Amino acid sequence: MTFDLTPEQDQLRDAVRALGRRYGHGYFVEKAKAGEHTTELWAEAGRLGYLGVNIPTEYGGGGGGITDLAIVCEELAAAGCPLLLLVVSPAIAATVLSRHGTEEQRKRHLPGLADGSQKIVFAITEPEAGSNFHRLGTVARRDGDGWLLNGRKCYISGVDEAGHVLVVARTEDSSTGKLKPALFLVPTDAAGLTRSKLDMEIVSPENQFLLYLDDVRVPADALLGESLDAGLPALFAGLNPERITVAAMGAGTGRYAIERASEYTATRKVWGGRSIGSHQGVSHPLAHAAVQVELARLMIQKAATLYDAGRDLEAGVAGNMAKYAAGEAAALAVDTAVQVLGGAGMTTEYGVATLLGAVRAGRIAPVSREMILNFVAQHVLGQDKSY
Ligand SMILES: Cc1cc2nc3c(=O)[nH]c(=O)nc-3n(C[C@H](O)[C@H](O)[C@H](O)COP(=O)(O)OP(=O)(O)OC[C@H]3O[C@@H](n4cnc5c(N)ncnc54)[C@H](O)[C@@H]3O)c2cc1C
Repeated sequence: MTFDLTPEQDQLRDAVRALGRRYGHGYFVEKAKAGEHTTELWAEAGRLGYLGVNIPTEYGGGGGGITDLAIVCEELAAAGCPLLLLVVSPAIAATVLSRHGTEEQRKRHLPGLADGSQKIVFAITEPEAGSNFHRLGTVARRDGDGWLLNGRKCYISGVDEAGHVLVVARTEDSSTGKLKPALFLVPTDAAGLTRSKLDMEIVSPENQFLLYLDDVRVPADALLGESLDAGLPALFAGLNPERITVAAMGAGTGRYAIERASEYTATRKVWGGRSIGSHQGVSHPLAHAAVQVELARLMIQKAATLYDAGRDLEAGVAGNMAKYAAGEAAALAVDTAVQVLGGAGMTTEYGVATLLGAVRAGRIAPVSREMILNFVAQHVLGQDKSY
C-alpha cells in the first residue's frame, strides 16, 4: 500500500486549498451568523469539479475515489470552511446512488450532485431508535404501484438546501425481526413531508431538522435500486465514505486551529521579548495536538486507500478508527487553540471558538465515539457484544 498522492491529487489539494482560502473562516462564520448558506462557495466548488471528484465520469464526475473527496473535505476545513454537507451529499448520497441506484436514478441525480446544482441529504436517525438502527420505526407500505412512508427523523442536516432526502425506512413486512432497510429518494417538497428546524449550539451555515413523514406518497421508482434487496448493501455502501470524509473534515479543522494558534503564539509577547510560544506550557499542548491530528490524517489516508482499492471490510475498520481519531484530535486541537490564544481565543475575530460546537458534535455524529469503540471491541478485539 502506498500513501503517495498522485500528481493530480496533489494539484487537487493545492487548488481546493486556494479556493478555501479565498473564502476563509470569516465568510463561513458570517454566513452562519446571518442564517445563510455558503451558496457561493458550494457553487464554485461544483463548477470547478470538486464536489463530483468521486462520481463516475459518465455522470459528469471526476471519476476518482474517496481519497479525492477526502482531500476536498480536509482542505476546505483547513481553510476554515468545514462543510458538513460534503459528507452527506457527495460522500453518502453519490456513493449510494453510484453503487446501488438504477441506471435511471444515476442519470437523473448524479450529474446535479457532481456540478453542485443538486443536493441530496440523508435521513436515518430517529428520536426513539437513536444509535440502535435496528429499532428504526419509519415504515414504507406498498400503495398501488408506489409507496406510503410514515415516521419521524431527527437531526437531519441540510434539508432546507436539498432537492431530495434519502430516507432510510423499513418495509411493512419487515416491521418485526431483523432490520431489512429500504432507501427512498423523497423530494423535499413532497406532500406530507414537513420539517422543523432544531436550534443547535453550533456555528454553522448548515441546519439540522426534525422531519415528519405523514403518508408521504412516492412512486415506485423512488425506491433506491432495482429491488428491496438493494437496501441493506446500499446503506452499508454509504458508511465508509461517511466516516472517512467526516474524519477528513475533522483533521482539516484541527490543522486550521493549530495554524491559527501557532501564528498567534509565535508573535504574542507578554513577558519581555519572548513570545508566549517559547514557553513549553504553551507550545507542548499545541505540539501534542499537532501529533494527534497528523496520526489521524495517516489513518484517514489508510482508510481511503483501502476503500478505493475495493477492500471494504478492512476500510470499515480503518474508517471507524480514522473517524474516532480525527474526532478526538479535532476537539483537542480547537480546545487547545482557544486556550493558548487566551481571551482572544474566545473572540469571534480570531476564529477558533467558533469551531467549538462543530468539533464537539464531531465526537457524536455521524457515529458516536462510544459506538466506534463498541465496533472495535467487537470486530477487532473479538469481545462479546455488550448491547
Ligand atoms: C450536527 C449533527 C448533524 C447530524 N446530521 C445528521 C444527518 O444529516 N442525518 C442523520 O440521519 N443523522 C444526523 N445526525 C444524528 C447523529 O448521527 C446522531 O446524533 C448519532 O448517531 C447519535 O445518536 P443519538 O443522538 O440518538 O444518541 P443516542 O443513541 O441516544 O446516544 C446517546 C449517548 O449514549 C451513547 N450510547 C448509546 N448506545 C450506546 C452503547 N450501546 N454503548 C455505549 N454508548 C452508547 C452514545 O454514544 C451517546 O453518547 C446529526 C447529529 C448532529 C449532532
